[in-house]
Amino acid sequence: MKTILISSLIAITLWADAHIFIYHRFGDDRYPATNTTIEELRREFEYFKENDYKVIPLNQLISALKNKENIPNNWVVLTIDDNYKSFYTNAFEIFKEYNYPFSIFVYVEATEKNYPDYLTWEQLKEIKEYGSIEFHSYAHNHMTEVSDEDLKKDFEKGLEILKKELNVVPKAFSYPYGEYNLRVQKIAKSYGFDAIINQNMGAVSDFSNLYDLDRTALVGKTDLKLYLRYKALKADWKEPVYFPKDGLLKSIHVTTDEEAQNGGVYITGHGWQQAKLKDGDFEFKVDKKLISKRSRIVISVGNKISTKLLIKDKHEAKRDLP
Ligand SMILES: [Zn+2]
Repeated sequence: MKTILISSLIAITLWADAHIFIYHRFGDDRYPATNTTIEELRREFEYFKENDYKVIPLNQLISALKNKENIPNNWVVLTIDDNYKSFYTNAFEIFKEYNYPFSIFVYVEATEKNYPDYLTWEQLKEIKEYGSIEFHSYAHNHMTEVSDEDLKKDFEKGLEILKKELNVVPKAFSYPYGEYNLRVQKIAKSYGFDAIINQNMGAVSDFSNLYDLDRTALVGKTDLKLYLRYKALKADWKEPVYFPKDGLLKSIHVTTDEEAQNGGVYITGHGWQQAKLKDGDFEFKVDKKLISKRSRIVISVGNKISTKLLIKDKHEAKRDLP
């Protein structure tokens, strides 16, 4: 639904910025919403190959961003969240066949406790020879619901086990369920990752924040060609920054350096609306109740988008927030 709405607002351009994609399960029709069929995976890989997209390791994108290099338009980074067994049984050979690098973000407890749907340490050791092993938490909690203290315990435990079992110090972290806010982000950053990756649809440009890289899901029903057209919108979110205390979104204020006068705003549960920009600023009253405790605000100018994810946080509520 969101895709259709966005597509009606964006202009069509051939190239966009670099894109990070996320997969979960492969060839596993028990969970259609988080699955990618093998036919679809091959179609996507062929599309990258035939259209001169370059599938690069995540590390290469991180280096380019760190060194403030230009990000080529045809770069694609492939990531896999949750160390499901179906990657090993159904997709690993295809990644090897195309020689496509990948990063797999490990939910440590699942492998540590031998949950049946998840990879073993032995399988991860084999996978490590072809792709990078990254961190996706120890216990896969909804992190905005976890106290600072327990979050720190989760990071420490998970990272220690990855080091012990695989001799890996992950360079990147992805949030379980893609859920985070500034409090969670700050704690994640303190563990020294080179990059933190979210699950907000979008693209990566040379100005993108290494600790908040957008990543688009290629699961369930997808539209790869559309996703590849998105560009990153350079946006400074003044408001909202946190999930509003009473759930009432009063206003939106985002500054950009765009010259356009027309843009779009999407709010989860409320859909898209047109918005006027004044000297690159989105600034207007909203006065809408956020329907979902996990709401996305997306602003768009042409095919450039920027997302703010707002999640209700009971630990944040105790603080003195604006
Ligand atoms: Zn996950």
